[in-house]
Amino acid sequence: MKKLKRQTKVIATIGPATESEENLERLITEGVDMCRLNMAHADHDWVREISTKIRIIGKRLNREPAIMMDVKGPEIRTGYLQNEIKLKKEGLIDLVFEPQPEPPILEGVWQIEVNYDKLSDHIKVGDTVLLDNGLIPLSVIKSSPDQIRCQILQDSILKSRRHVNLPGIETGLPSLTEKDRRDSIVGIECKHDYFALSFTRDADSIDLFRSFLHENGSDAQIIAKLEDQKGVSNIDEIISASDAIMIARGDLGIECALEELPIIQRKTVGACLASGKPVIVATHLLESMIESPVPTRAEVSDVANAVNEGADSLMLSGETTTGKYPFQSLDMLNRIASKIESEITPGLSEELRLFRPKAKMLRSAAMLAMKMKNSAVLVFTRSGDLAAKLGALRPNGAPLFAFTDIDGLHRRLRLIWGIEPFLMNFSEDPEITIKNAIDKLVKEQWVESGDQLITVTNVFAGGKVVESIQLREVE
Ligand code: PEP
Repeated sequence: MKKLKRQTKVIATIGPATESEENLERLITEGVDMCRLNMAHADHDWVREISTKIRIIGKRLNREPAIMMDVKGPEIRTGYLQNEIKLKKEGLIDLVFEPQPEPPILEGVWQIEVNYDKLSDHIKVGDTVLLDNGLIPLSVIKSSPDQIRCQILQDSILKSRRHVNLPGIETGLPSLTEKDRRDSIVGIECKHDYFALSFTRDADSIDLFRSFLHENGSDAQIIAKLEDQKGVSNIDEIISASDAIMIARGDLGIECALEELPIIQRKTVGACLASGKPVIVATHLLESMIESPVPTRAEVSDVANAVNEGADSLMLSGETTTGKYPFQSLDMLNRIASKIESEITPGLSEELRLFRPKAKMLRSAAMLAMKMKNSAVLVFTRSGDLAAKLGALRPNGAPLFAFTDIDGLHRRLRLIWGIEPFLMNFSEDPEITIKNAIDKLVKEQWVESGDQLITVTNVFAGGKVVESIQLREVE
């Protein structure tokens, strides 16, 4: 039986370092399971072109990765600056709402534009404002409808169009902006498999996004990006409402205390495992590899920790968009994940709650596959639920083959831990479907004569369809 490269999946964000046909082909061949298009940077023509390329290459390689459109969500930024400006600790700046490409200093106070004119409705004296991903901390000392006066807490340099974070503050911005809607329409046109919703704060924002997708004819799945304190406090309802969770550690590490981050990660991965929802650990996994061909030792341990905790997927961002070493980064994730997985003591997740009888049977099937040599689990799924639950059991070491006849689901399943998906027509007769699936596995050299396949499937018995676990030896 062919061994999977690794059971933990890998997502690569596509950018200048990886967007050529040759590089996309290399990413997919070397194991990328999902390509992420980040709408904070991408334009619509680029999205159309890249999506077509990924789909064509995936089909040609018979290994189609899923595509995720990551919509930007509500975002506040400082305005365009002609030149960088030097900010001095203990100096003052006014956040104002008019364009200031050459910010004046009025009575010793910098006038800096931000793009949200209702900010003063939500901010009070003593609040913290963080510019440029937390590099420039400010403290609010006066707030009025026209300007928010802040004290600068650190010597720093302000560049053009920097991120503004407001830890713990509800901004009143809509969860789905006009830009998100326009971008998503293009994602729907390109049949993207997943949409990631930035700054998901509650279940309502997922429901709203889902209605928007349905109204526009898409049944794509929604990944909730956990990136602020409100999202963390509503994590249970967000997990229930969404199809998967991304622990977006970049913003999360600004919006929450940094030392909270490992705790939030561990608890979120655990909660997702318990409910059978895929979970992605994202950002700064191998950040130093943007510039260096080898990661820091701490990064290796961070990746190993995410694998050990049981993340479904690991996500690369800068490493594969603008980094100098995108393929070395992918290779490093492949190596770490595969090594750490081989060290995990086989055993099934106890936390996963299974309700349907057929889902409960998965536990026995997975247990059997782990106990027997050269064996794998084989499931047939139309909704993806059975495959998601099977992956969530984390049967270490046993390949999990999931067959579907739903075009598109075979790509979506790539996000789930351990699942190797296949698209194939199903027959009315379950026996023929099983036989066709095994033939395909043999033909594509996943299994060979003598291997054992444990199937959870329907069979005809006594004129009725019954659910069964069967052990099939490959002939
Ligand atoms: C993050 O903040 O970690 C993240 C993945 O989101 P983005 O890159 O869209 O800011």
